[in-house]
Amino acid sequence: MSEVLMSRLSWQEYARRIAAGAVVFLPVGALEQHGPHLPLGVDAMLSTDVAVGVAQRVGGVVAAPLNYGYKSQARCGGGQCFPGTTSLDAQTLISFVQDVIRELVRHGARNIVLVDGHYENQWFLTEACELAWRELGASTPELRCMRTEYWDFCGIDVLDPMFPGGFPGFALEHAALIETSMMLHLHPDLVDLSLLPDDGPAEFPVYDMFPQTGHGVPPSGVLSSARGAKAEYGATIFETVCNGLAAAVGEAFKAG
Ligand code: ZN
Ligand code: MN
Repeated sequence: MSEVLMSRLSWQEYARRIAAGAVVFLPVGALEQHGPHLPLGVDAMLSTDVAVGVAQRVGGVVAAPLNYGYKSQARCGGGQCFPGTTSLDAQTLISFVQDVIRELVRHGARNIVLVDGHYENQWFLTEACELAWRELGASTPELRCMRTEYWDFCGIDVLDPMFPGGFPGFALEHAALIETSMMLHLHPDLVDLSLLPDDGPAEFPVYDMFPQTGHGVPPSGVLSSARGAKAEYGATIFETVCNGLAAAVGEAFKAG
């Protein structure tokens, strides 16, 4: 398998691939608590793994990931009250991504995919794409940006058999069965199943309160049970996501 990480390519090799029309993937994650059994970097690791898997399938290049993300929210990431959850202001995230897109375009990239691994990032990545187009669209009308949350490529038909109690929805899947299974498949040395908590599923009101207090968030930070997580589920989810996103990239960036 040829190298796809931009940080490991020489400038000449990068230039050659861009000139050949390679799609550039930018993984965006977070530095955020993921319960006692997973490390803080899960969202960046998994979005990078997916970007690499897809880039290998479509002949793309993966730009250096953004390892920080927008502020964790109680109802989908456990919130800001956990040590280690180290987050960006929205404006910083938008500007960072807009800067990277501008630089990629300056050297000839025209097809760019933002691979989001952290729920809270999504509208700010959307804004970065909108502002990048407003800035660059007139001079580079062939520029196309895709923004995606990788888990959306794993359909309920694949997930259902993995959740005997019923799939709780992606928002509550924080540090839970999907992320734990994917980590068991991709980074087993970073998972400690002996520390799996029994918390959850969390029950939240349908509103958010500020300042954040952690109200309603289980003490472990896990929003629904990761019990039943398996490396083989992780492999199935990973393959499904990579194949689905690769197909979407082929469709979205079709010439013409
Ligand atoms: Zn996560
Ligand atoms: Mn997250």
